[in-house]
Amino acid sequence: MKHVFPLTGISSVALHSTRAENAEYAHITPIYATSTFTFPSAEEGMERFAGEDKSRIYGRWGNPTFTAAEETIAALEAFGIMNSNGTPLQLKALLHASGQAAMTTLFMSTLKAGDAVLSHYSLYGGTYELLLKVLQNAGIETIIADLRDTTQVEDIIKKNPAIKLVHIETPANPTIQCIDIAAVTQIAKQYHKLVSVDNTFATPYLQQPFKFGVDFVFHSTTKFLNGHGTAIGGVLISKDIEFMQTNAWKWQVLLGGNSNPFDAFLLMNGLKTLELRMDRHCSNAKAVAEFLDQHPAIEKVNYAGLSTHPDYAIATKQMKHPGALMSFEVNGGLEAGKQFIDKLQMCVRAISLGTLDTLLSHPASMSHRGVSKEERLKFGITDGLIRLSVGIENITDILNDFEQALS
Ligand SMILES: *Cc1c(COP(=O)(O)O)cnc(C)c1O
Repeated sequence: MKHVFPLTGISSVALHSTRAENAEYAHITPIYATSTFTFPSAEEGMERFAGEDKSRIYGRWGNPTFTAAEETIAALEAFGIMNSNGTPLQLKALLHASGQAAMTTLFMSTLKAGDAVLSHYSLYGGTYELLLKVLQNAGIETIIADLRDTTQVEDIIKKNPAIKLVHIETPANPTIQCIDIAAVTQIAKQYHKLVSVDNTFATPYLQQPFKFGVDFVFHSTTKFLNGHGTAIGGVLISKDIEFMQTNAWKWQVLLGGNSNPFDAFLLMNGLKTLELRMDRHCSNAKAVAEFLDQHPAIEKVNYAGLSTHPDYAIATKQMKHPGALMSFEVNGGLEAGKQFIDKLQMCVRAISLGTLDTLLSHPASMSHRGVSKEERLKFGITDGLIRLSVGIENITDILNDFEQALS
C-alpha cells in the first residue's frame, strides 16, 4: 500500500489498496493472461518453491491480476476495523472461479467427515444443496435451524459437539431475513466454534462482519462486487492469514477453484465504483419497497428497510443501509406473479442479482427448484414469491414499469 495516512472512505480504499505490480508502469492493473511464470534461474525457481510467495509459479496457484482484486476486497472488508491492540485488522482473501468454488474451499478446509455445520433455513439455493447433497456424502452433517433465535442456537450448539462451523447468510436469500451477527458469533465463540458470513447481499460497504469477531467472510463476486454482470467469481476472506496461506489455499489449488485473469480484471473494474453504485442501488430500493408496500395489488413485501419486516431492528443495527434486495408477493399468487413478470417492459427477467439493471426472478421455479416444496414453504419461499434486485436506472422509470405491469 502506498498511502501512509488512514483513508477515510471506501472509494479511496477501493481505488488505492493494491499496488499495480507491473514492469511497464501501466496505470490500471493489467490482465496477466499467462498460465505459468518464468524462473530467471534454476536457483530462483527452487527458492520460490521453498519460499513464502507461492503465487508466482503457476497460474492455478495465483496470478497478479487475482492478487490485485484479493488485496482490494480484503482492504474493503477490513476498512476502519482495529485489532484489540490498536493496529489495523489485516485480512487475506482468495479469489475463486465462482461463489460455489469459494464456498467449497470454506467447507472443505474447515470441516472433515464427522464434523457438522450449523446454518439457517433461508439460504442461497446453491449453498443449501452443496451442504445437503454434496457435503452430506462426504460425511459432513448440516443442522438447519432458525439462527434468529439465539436460545435455540445455544441449545443446538450445546447438544451437538460435532458442530465446528456456524454459517450465517445475512440478509438471507430470498426472504431477506437478517441474522444478528454479533449475537450468534458471541455464542459460537463461547463454545469455540468457527463463524462464517455470506456477505454477498450486503457488500463490505453496507456490512462488515469482521467487526463482530467472525472468522470468515464469503462473497459471490458475481453480484455487487463485480456489479456489471460480466463475470462469475467468488472470494473467501479471513483474519487467520496463516490458515488462508496454507490450508485454504491448498484446498483451492487442489480442487482447481482458481479465478482467471480476465474475470479478475472485470472484478477490479467493478470494485472501483462500489460505493457510487451501492448508494444508487440503495436509494432506488427504498423507493421501490415503499411503492410496493402501499400498492393495493401487492400482498406482502420482504425488505429489511421496512419497519414491518421482522428483522428491521437487526438490519438497522448491523448494516449501514438495508441494501437493494427484496422479495414480494402479488395478490393472486403464482399466476398473478407470472403475469406481472411477463408484463415488465424495462426491468429484466433473470436470476442473479447486484447488476446495474433491475432483475426479477421467481425462486420457487428457478433458484430454489432444487429445494423440496415442503422445505421451501418452511423458508417462506411461497409459490408466488418474486425476488427483486433493484438497479441503478432512474427511479421514475423503475416505478413506471412496475405500475404499468401491476395495472
Ligand atoms: C450467487 C450467490 C452464491 C453463489 O455464487 P456463484 O458466484 O453463483 O457461484 C452464494 N451466495 C449468495 C448469497 C449468492 O447470491
